[in-house]
Amino acid sequence: MHTLQTLLQALGVILLADFLTGIGHWLEDAYGTEETPVIGPLVIKPNIVHHHYPRLFTKLTWWQSSWDLLLLGAFFVGLAAWADALTWHVWLFAILCVNANQVHKWSHQTRAENGPLVSFLQDCWILQTPRQHALHHTDPKNTFYCPITNLLNPALEIIGLWPKLEAVIEALTGATHRKDASNRGEGPTPAWVAELRRPSPTADLTSPRGPGNCP
Ligand SMILES: [Zn+2]
Ligand SMILES: [Zn+2]
Repeated sequence: MHTLQTLLQALGVILLADFLTGIGHWLEDAYGTEETPVIGPLVIKPNIVHHHYPRLFTKLTWWQSSWDLLLLGAFFVGLAAWADALTWHVWLFAILCVNANQVHKWSHQTRAENGPLVSFLQDCWILQTPRQHALHHTDPKNTFYCPITNLLNPALEIIGLWPKLEAVIEALTGATHRKDASNRGEGPTPAWVAELRRPSPTADLTSPRGPGNCP
């Protein structure tokens, strides 16, 4: 019984991390622009690039694509320690969120690039599969935002969470889902993005912050 409880709690933590990183990804895709103060150049630009050139960020190291999530995770763990609430749930949540972009990266790599362990975890749907993540990269790129597992996205699509949230935000603020120039017919591609197609793209523009995002 105790083991079952622990497993259910772990599943809950995994789903929470997947959901919150999905929320971060959705906010970036729907409302962030390269001109958004502070996070625009640091976080939104790489995300925009990722929609145009999805494989670029697979060239980055873990540090290059996860430094910001590591900062957020460390802050969260520190906060929990300060509140005397540093349980294994907090650690699991932080580890998942910090590595959300790495899991996302794996979903853009081949099985040969990922190796047997990651490929096995993807086959078991414990990690998101390339096939499911490809649905997010299908025009108009406004579905399947959660980056960690295959478990949550289908349910969120069935209940229509993202369009419903966007309808609420539009009713409250008038803000609508921004245009995505990587979709067919919504271009042209911004010059600063097209520039990356040329010989040596700058590394710091190629890491998407999906999860961004626990990001
Ligand atoms: Zn996206
Ligand atoms: Zn992606």
